Amino acid sequence: MAIIYHPEYATHIQFRHHPESPERLEYILKKIATLKLSQEIIKPEPATEDDLLTVHTEKYVDFIKNFGTGYLDGDTYIREGTYEIALLAAGGAMRGVQESFLRNEPVFSIVRPPGHHAGPKHGGGFCYFNNAAVAAKNALKRSERVAIVDIDAHHGNGTQEIFYDSRDVLYVSLHEWGIFPGTGNYTEVGRGKGEGYNVNIPLPPHSGDSTYEEAFDAIVMPVLSQFMPNIVLVSIGVDAHYKDVMTRLELSSKGYMSIAKKLLDFSEEYCHGRLVYVLEGGYNGLALSEVTGGIIAMFEGRKIDIQYDNVKDKNLRGKEYIDKSKNELFKYWKL
Ligand SMILES: [Zn+2]
Repeated sequence: MAIIYHPEYATHIQFRHHPESPERLEYILKKIATLKLSQEIIKPEPATEDDLLTVHTEKYVDFIKNFGTGYLDGDTYIREGTYEIALLAAGGAMRGVQESFLRNEPVFSIVRPPGHHAGPKHGGGFCYFNNAAVAAKNALKRSERVAIVDIDAHHGNGTQEIFYDSRDVLYVSLHEWGIFPGTGNYTEVGRGKGEGYNVNIPLPPHSGDSTYEEAFDAIVMPVLSQFMPNIVLVSIGVDAHYKDVMTRLELSSKGYMSIAKKLLDFSEEYCHGRLVYVLEGGYNGLALSEVTGGIIAMFEGRKIDIQYDNVKDKNLRGKEYIDKSKNELFKYWKL
């Protein structure tokens, strides 16, 4: 299977000790090498400005391009080269889509900077351009329906905004409720012809394996199978892991594998194996590399030894929240 990665991703440093650091990808690459996983690493081309304009306004693209140096928001710094590296990250997600269509198999785009907080007219939260959204728009050139499943611990407010009026792109997000960026309530279901095609499952702190299992079985998988996408994109963040201190969600590596298996089986049954993982967050190198390595191994039909398998949520801690989402979504989907 193919991995999309560019060595230049390592040159993106916002400032010293920023959690979204080059070491994140070093951990992943080391894991891939240790486990002797995919040797097929494809270097992507940068996205073009036209590609960005499919999801961002011209004003915003020019704003980033000519920004100079300084803070975009409190957590997101821009310096010389940031624009170019952000284009390369969007290009990496796009290449993932292209390869997955070509091969009818899963592809993992290991990119940074991440993208899911970038909306049509804004960036922030470590993001400049929305990689997954640019890739989804690219996928629409050769398909009718694209699903984005966002399992980063934070809500992908940018992706939601971009596709809020659209029924061609289904956006599904599971995230911790009450943290950055503050959006992603279950009542945010889309607008106009996009109504019902935006699915939020906000979860309380300490939700973990059993809650995610139930959310996938009760909502995510039924919605996906009714939507019938031609390709599934996964905005993967490993910051919902219990080892990651950025949020209070408590998924184990085992929980991540279980989600990955459901999405893999779905893609094989419903969309010719087309499945593209696009990396978003995840700030604990050990958890990040174990989960990404485990998923890539799964794509190759292999199983790795899991170290972080402590199941902390065995009793559906987020059940009440899942039910709220379900009640809202009943209007649009058979659940
Ligand atoms: Zn995140």
